[in-house]
Amino acid sequence: MVMRRGTLYDMSQTEPREQQQPRERRPRSEIPPERRAAALAQVRTLGDPVLRESARPVETFDSELAALSRRMIAVMRDAPGIGLAATQLGVVKRMIVYEVDDDPVALVNPRIVGASDDTEVLDEGCLSLPGVTVPVERPTLVRVRARDLRGRRLEYDAEDLEARVIQHEIDHLDGVLILERTSREERGRVLRELRERQTAAVPSGSGL
Ligand code: ZN
Repeated sequence: MVMRRGTLYDMSQTEPREQQQPRERRPRSEIPPERRAAALAQVRTLGDPVLRESARPVETFDSELAALSRRMIAVMRDAPGIGLAATQLGVVKRMIVYEVDDDPVALVNPRIVGASDDTEVLDEGCLSLPGVTVPVERPTLVRVRARDLRGRRLEYDAEDLEARVIQHEIDHLDGVLILERTSREERGRVLRELRERQTAAVPSGSGL
């Protein structure tokens, strides 16, 4: 097993960081704040029980499914993020979208059917955990099996960032967040941070 400590790829691109993000294609500044806010308002965040649900396999490949994928891609792009799972929009269907290179990809009922022994530790963010990143170790190469929007079988190998996004989003379909993929210490740190931020967000003197 090869473990490398890599550069930061912020899965959700929620917080600009000092590190280089060579594959970031859509700088936050290009997305009008109101569009970004409208997209983020649709994304369920930590504490929402739907994020812990196991999504159900898709059996009907119809226009409704295509419409859901369009909605997911729009939210992902405006958020902006490079991946999104249906459960993050409160839809408990096994569908993910991602966009690592030029074209958005929608995968229905995706499964990892093989993975490399080589792994890599990178900091990941998540639109459902705004503003936090944690180191997550994942295989650098995976074989994914899925269906496309018309129900056709797909099987291919993905590596590096694409492999990571696919694994991150499939985790969502199983109710798993990056908090469960990191060390206990990191998990504790993040939960403390989120609690502190919540407390800080309460306006003083609101009386409620
Ligand atoms: Zn996520």
